[in-house]
Amino acid sequence: KEVFFNGEWLPSQAAAVSVFDRGFMLGDGIYEVIPVYGRQPFTMEAHLGRLREGLHAVGIHYTANGLLDRVKEAVERAECADGLVYIQVTRGVAPRTHYFPEGVEPTVLLYAYPFNFEGFEKKLVDVVLSPDLRWHRCDIKSISLMANVLANNAARQAGVVENVFEREGWITEGSHTSVFLVHNGTIYTHPKGQHILPGITRDIVISIARETGIPVREEAFAVADLPRVEEAFLTGTTMQVTAIGGIWINGRKSVVSTDRGPVTRRIQEAFIKQTNSL
Ligand code: PLP
Repeated sequence: KEVFFNGEWLPSQAAAVSVFDRGFMLGDGIYEVIPVYGRQPFTMEAHLGRLREGLHAVGIHYTANGLLDRVKEAVERAECADGLVYIQVTRGVAPRTHYFPEGVEPTVLLYAYPFNFEGFEKKLVDVVLSPDLRWHRCDIKSISLMANVLANNAARQAGVVENVFEREGWITEGSHTSVFLVHNGTIYTHPKGQHILPGITRDIVISIARETGIPVREEAFAVADLPRVEEAFLTGTTMQVTAIGGIWINGRKSVVSTDRGPVTRRIQEAFIKQTNSL
């Protein structure tokens, strides 16, 4: 398998990162994951735009413009129709300091790998509620994912696929997904800002809802109101639009729905139409 590493395509075994890479030592980097459906990258510009914003926010000087062609190359080289393109840019290699080193070139890694998206619309998954222990810049897609990793692993150990974070009584998002809750026929999702990642799938789902005439409010939803939720779903590049069946809170399951609800279905149908028509 080949990866694009610091300007060239190499067999992955030949791509070696220095132990002094700031990504390795400090988690000092930004990443992105782009879905590919039937050999077509989906929402590539939006993902690259978010990558650029993240790099800018943390002062990593890398234009990312050339990555558009690299993503296309990755898809051409990949031996799969459906997959994901992973991109990571770290601040580079330098003796370990907390302050930024000068004159350092960012380390750039990009590769595609097969991924099976099919069947997400048939699933009904449980999630666990976990305290949002992340930092206050969740809008930056930082490679430092310790809080996400801990929470998702705890969810896995509890036998479910994802956790849903709660910050001061409000639902923020999942470890690697955005969260949507339906109450009285209105869809709620946490507003953009420093407490969530601005999900690309989230944007798509909001525009689908608006086009379909389903009311959407970008407002935080209270944990206390979860028992009144009629439907809930997760969105993201890897989970697409996946219905939530139940939410485990302190060892007790709060049942959301025993089947996929009508709002979730309508969103899923429109989403599948978009990805099928690439
Ligand atoms: N929230 C977090 C914390 C994520 O890591 C992700 C995706 O990786 C998402 C939300 C969903 O974002 P997207 O729809 O752009 O994949």
